[in-house]
Amino acid sequence: MDEPLLYSQLSLTRRSSSLPKIIRVDPYSDLSKLRGIPRYEFSRGIEGNEILDMTGLKGVEDLGDRLRVLAGTPWRDVIRYSPELFGNLDFSVGGSVFFGDAGFGFNEFGLIKDRVEVEGYLNGIKYTGKYNGGIIYAVYIKKELKQLVNKGYTTDDIDAILYKLKNWFSSGFPAFRDITINIQGGVAKLIVAYPSTREQLLLKYVSDLQKVDPVYEDLSPRHKYRYYGTTDLNGIFQIKENLKRSERTILRFRGTKVYFVIYSNTPLKFIDTIPLTSYSDSDAQNNLNGCVLCGRCVNVCPYGEMMGSPIYTPLGLYVLQPLGFAEGLINCHMCGKCVDVCPSKLDILSDLRKYARYNKIDTSLPEVRELPATSVIVLTPISKGFEDRAIRALLYLHSKGKKVGLIKLDINVLDLLLDKVDWENISKKLEGVNEILTITPEEYHYLQPIKRFKIIDIILVEELILPDTDIEGENLHIPCMLGIKTRKKELNKCSLAFLEEISGKTVESKLPAKYTLCPITARKLNIKTPLDTVFPTLNLEALKNIISKLHQGVEDGDLLMDDSKWYEDIAEELFKKVADKIISTQLNRLTKEELLFLYFFMDKFAEINEKDKEVIIKEVNKILGSN
Ligand code: SF4
Ligand code: SF4
Repeated sequence: MDEPLLYSQLSLTRRSSSLPKIIRVDPYSDLSKLRGIPRYEFSRGIEGNEILDMTGLKGVEDLGDRLRVLAGTPWRDVIRYSPELFGNLDFSVGGSVFFGDAGFGFNEFGLIKDRVEVEGYLNGIKYTGKYNGGIIYAVYIKKELKQLVNKGYTTDDIDAILYKLKNWFSSGFPAFRDITINIQGGVAKLIVAYPSTREQLLLKYVSDLQKVDPVYEDLSPRHKYRYYGTTDLNGIFQIKENLKRSERTILRFRGTKVYFVIYSNTPLKFIDTIPLTSYSDSDAQNNLNGCVLCGRCVNVCPYGEMMGSPIYTPLGLYVLQPLGFAEGLINCHMCGKCVDVCPSKLDILSDLRKYARYNKIDTSLPEVRELPATSVIVLTPISKGFEDRAIRALLYLHSKGKKVGLIKLDINVLDLLLDKVDWENISKKLEGVNEILTITPEEYHYLQPIKRFKIIDIILVEELILPDTDIEGENLHIPCMLGIKTRKKELNKCSLAFLEEISGKTVESKLPAKYTLCPITARKLNIKTPLDTVFPTLNLEALKNIISKLHQGVEDGDLLMDDSKWYEDIAEELFKKVADKIISTQLNRLTKEELLFLYFFMDKFAEINEKDKEVIIKEVNKILGSN
């Protein structure tokens, strides 16, 4: 599947039958060589046969009194730098300049394109200054230096607010920086902003208003239909009923003009004298199952990143599903990041699962002896290959006084991904367990539904060990599955390691981390986890000591090693001669950790008979039971 099909559907009112050519632009692209129509967002745009997808061009550089913002950066990423302009948080900075946007915030100086400077390319020639057409690469925005006062009042009488403004405007536009009306659920809020130095000048308007916090409205279109347009106050009176029927309306006043954004769950009719922008919806054209093409999921989706295209994200699914291209489109690891950011609150995971088609995934369990306890390390097929990590973690935690056991849960990975696990049954296997520790963040994430059937704590082993290390935050990768946010966004990214395992694809990962809380990532990038720093390997010397302690005072005898999948080569070297009949009589020579160590490896000794094993198991259980 290729991207032109996706882009041909993106502008709801301008469905294109011909497939345009798409060129992805990023901070490294040479725009002097590129020609085409820039699209800074997915939801709005101008048609053309060569589209430059600018949505990957993101970044803010603080230059002191100004900001240099790459054109595809959303306003919500800019607002915290205190720009001089208010922005519609769902639009990109470049789009706000390029599209002469109706939903964008305005200040006292006029439309943004006359206010800001841009770094642009016109016919391949770079220019800096006021927007003069062509492709915007970056936008320079002044930072707010004056102290602003925000005042407002709230009422359920929408007419009263409109008449108040009519009254205000009868003698010209008051010297406010910004006037906004925010209507939600039938309640209207009037908010004005002005520099504190203008208080006296504006007193007659603001004397009955209360101080309010500055509002940077999240204009996330959570509703099915979106209408954008420009009119005047009289025009607003003409569409008053639509304002009242809408779920959310934002009116921004600038001189005699009013810019409106109206969101509704039912289609609204507008009279001809109030033209809507080309990217507004109408009844017939809303068929994307509630997706409003905001592109937020595209920004966070690891699967889209791995596949290198927005097609393989929920946005792609919703756009292409009505065309019959959803089957097998997204076969991801169901991290849920898209769900967290979707303003439409779509049931994305259910939709993804409906169409996911996975290849065969290894579902065999790790080979390791279980050790029941009330707090257990849990191994599923996801942690296959991490058996020694599990034993290391267990021995380390015991050395710190935390008694943990180990159990295996035979859960099919596909069932986990497709949410088909019989959790009731699984919770039975966990009878008597009140805490589970997982080796991988994936297991931490996927096992959460057990909590619907059982009161139980779920902890990632690596998170438990982290405080014992001197690993610093700026070096540590926090896996996406944990849902924890770090200050450094690039350390919060999915490493794609598990996605690679379930998809069979290999991609380069650019995580700038020295450590990670995810063993699958550690394996892919050859970096360490906290456990690796406190207990780097299963100590073969310790095993040697265990054996020699058991030997003491006992005649040598031949001990044959089983063919071992672990430490095959070591076995020969270490355990050539071990005496018979030693186990039950010599166990008291061992420390608790040594005994536990032996417990996990006793099957490797051909001459440790069943009776001896029973003694070892009994002794180990005493450890778990003792205070
Ligand atoms: S669940 Fe994760 S990988 Fe899958 S579509 Fe959503 S964000 Fe992308
Ligand atoms: S699925 Fe949700 S987050 Fe993604 S584009 Fe659609 S509305 Fe936005």
